Amino acid sequence: MRKALQILVKGVVQGVGFRPFVYRLATSHNLTGFVQNNENGVLIEVEGEENYLNEFLRELESKSPPLSRIDGVWYENHPKVGYLRFSIGKSAFNDNRDVLVSPDIATCDECLAELFNPSDRRFQYPFINCTNCGPRFTIIRDVPYDRPRTTMCEFSMCDSCREEYENPLDRRFHAQPNACSECGPEVELVGALELETKGREKKAIKEAIRLLKDGKIVAIKGLGGFHLACDALNEEAVRNLRSRKSRDSKPFALMSKDLKVINRYCEVSSMEKKLLLSPRRPIVLLTKKKDIRGIAPKNKYLGFMLPYTPIHHLLFNPPDAPSVLVMTSGNISDEPVSYKNGDAVTHLKNIADYFLTHNRKIHTRCDDSLVGVFEGREVTIRRSRGYVPEPIELPSNSEQHILACGAELKNTFCLAKDNYAFLSHYIGDLENLEVLLAFEEGIQHFEHIFSIYPTVIAYDLHPEYLSTKYAGELLARNPKLLAVGVQHHHAHIASCMADNRIDGKVIGVAFDGLGYGTDGNLWGGEFLVADYSRFKRMAHLQYVPMPGGVQAIREPWRMAACYLWRIYGDDFLKLGIEFTDGMDKKKWRVLKNSMEHDINSPLTSSIGRLFDAVSALLGICGFSTYEAQAAIELENAASNEYHSPYVYEVEENIIKPDGIFSGIVGDLKDNIPLDIIASRFHSTVADMVVNMCDRMRQELHLGRVVLSGGVFQNMILLGRVVNRLRDGGFKVYIPHRIPVNDGGISLGQVAIAIAKIKKQKVSIINPKSEILNTKSQDPYGQYLNFNFP
Ligand SMILES: [Zn+2]
Ligand SMILES: [Zn+2]
Repeated sequence: MRKALQILVKGVVQGVGFRPFVYRLATSHNLTGFVQNNENGVLIEVEGEENYLNEFLRELESKSPPLSRIDGVWYENHPKVGYLRFSIGKSAFNDNRDVLVSPDIATCDECLAELFNPSDRRFQYPFINCTNCGPRFTIIRDVPYDRPRTTMCEFSMCDSCREEYENPLDRRFHAQPNACSECGPEVELVGALELETKGREKKAIKEAIRLLKDGKIVAIKGLGGFHLACDALNEEAVRNLRSRKSRDSKPFALMSKDLKVINRYCEVSSMEKKLLLSPRRPIVLLTKKKDIRGIAPKNKYLGFMLPYTPIHHLLFNPPDAPSVLVMTSGNISDEPVSYKNGDAVTHLKNIADYFLTHNRKIHTRCDDSLVGVFEGREVTIRRSRGYVPEPIELPSNSEQHILACGAELKNTFCLAKDNYAFLSHYIGDLENLEVLLAFEEGIQHFEHIFSIYPTVIAYDLHPEYLSTKYAGELLARNPKLLAVGVQHHHAHIASCMADNRIDGKVIGVAFDGLGYGTDGNLWGGEFLVADYSRFKRMAHLQYVPMPGGVQAIREPWRMAACYLWRIYGDDFLKLGIEFTDGMDKKKWRVLKNSMEHDINSPLTSSIGRLFDAVSALLGICGFSTYEAQAAIELENAASNEYHSPYVYEVEENIIKPDGIFSGIVGDLKDNIPLDIIASRFHSTVADMVVNMCDRMRQELHLGRVVLSGGVFQNMILLGRVVNRLRDGGFKVYIPHRIPVNDGGISLGQVAIAIAKIKKQKVSIINPKSEILNTKSQDPYGQYLNFNFP
């Protein structure tokens, strides 16, 4: 019997070859009707024999294209229209947009084969792409995903390209960025000094390779912004790049021709190989086998990625081209990556010698993603290109639309509706105007393309974060918005819970650099009992002053001196160890004076600062030039072998680390090698975690431990903590799809906002009407009672 169905498919179903797939599937089953994109996903009407319709429905899910992600299929019987054939309809519009946008995808194998086939009409064309690969998120201005709503709208297709684009059986059917050298974008090589064109198309690429071989620095326009590139094996070029970029020792990302080259320098496990080759093409942190000088000083890892645009492939293609390139973000220290041609020239002309650029615009700036592998599973350090804007499904549905503003460093924001959380691309450290603008534009773009109109604003409690101030401005402008202030470490724990889709009360261990506490102090070594709506601080690292405030973060030696002074008094200067002998005594007297008079010496319980102190005490890093450098170098100095922990005390749920310092001083005097001391320190911190979790389990009868916060990017620490907790019978959770660092905070804020709204049934409150308790400082007043009864 002939029947008719109307079907709606939701998920990542646009820009991934879904309509041609449906077309082929329908025609193979003799079905008639149509398929079209709409703002909710893909709409299909099909007519045909009932058994064929059933098969069609089954195969719609089981045979869907590799890059699609189906989140749901809804269908109902429909009156028969009597379609004569199956066709692909134009995109339809309605007001309820609910479509998912695909991330950018690395050049596929079929396109690569054409790129290097001299008889193909796209031979060596640097913008080759198809339905299964190419730019997506970074060129989308609006939805539904169709050429006029991308930055490709400026190029009109030639006859051959249009034919491919319109033929449902062609692999470029409705590939929105489809182009060729006749009609599409072109590359251009420009000198940085005189801004003169040195070559276009093939000549530009050929010349760029020659310049890279020559040790020059070339700014290369990629998918989400510019990279600064140089030959990684040319020490002088690398040194040049470091000095021009004012980047002393922060590791550079590398791109290599292929896996074989990477294998020369790094160990590559099967999971790491899979990640390197995945269409997302992240930078993967790999253990060094053979060092490349100047790339990642004092570091056990190198960050490698494989080519992901046709331009990259062309640059590596000639046999005498450099086999490894530094590909670092095209920005000046803390500014966002340049992505507009004009900006790039202004910002990078004093760093790059040449620009290899092109005229396809980037609509949204998007950095490379950075991942690692722990216990055979992917862990995310920076979630951006290739991953964003794929949503993360929330453990529970949100009745309201939510904007979570995230934290300050490594900022991401997050927008949520229904059970989707759209975690943004990496915005950066919200410390200057340019990054703030990128943050604001990003929020507007996400709100627009996902049709999210926030009624709830979640934000960090730190009154000085620019993200918090942004929330404050929104709330001041619109008093009807609901404000939810979220404590930083609670957000860390909730982000990990949401990523692992767990619910209920857990033991939360949040270790990071700094986060604003409910007592106004700077937390960072926290043991919480928490669920999504509430938390209670059960234990923490003892407070110590940070001499000189944030300057102590840049100068870890201050923390070391402060700890020693508290233990030994002024006599610590006579300990006779290298650290105290080399200390700036004059500076110290000023700092000591300020601590004694409680001037600019905020109290902190941060584990990050404890790592800083030990790193400086061991002479590893006394002055930091990038975030967490002291801790990273301490990890890299530590032996992987287990060595016994130092002694510490726990008094009334305060962890007192004095014994660690006297232990280390003793070891230093006994000339114990640094790698052993560093290993003992890692064992000590792991022991603290297990010890405190044991105490909390006895008191609270909870067996699940959630680990979060940037300190857990430390693989030695994470490994020891996880192993020992598991041995002790705990179930342990770490984040995988979202960063363990502050890049995951905004997702935690969303999860907490949903739970608080549900639990407390909070009504809309004017943020200014709330009277603040001076100790629990929520700048915008909506501070919900957080303690467990
Ligand atoms: Zn392709
Ligand atoms: Zn063309």
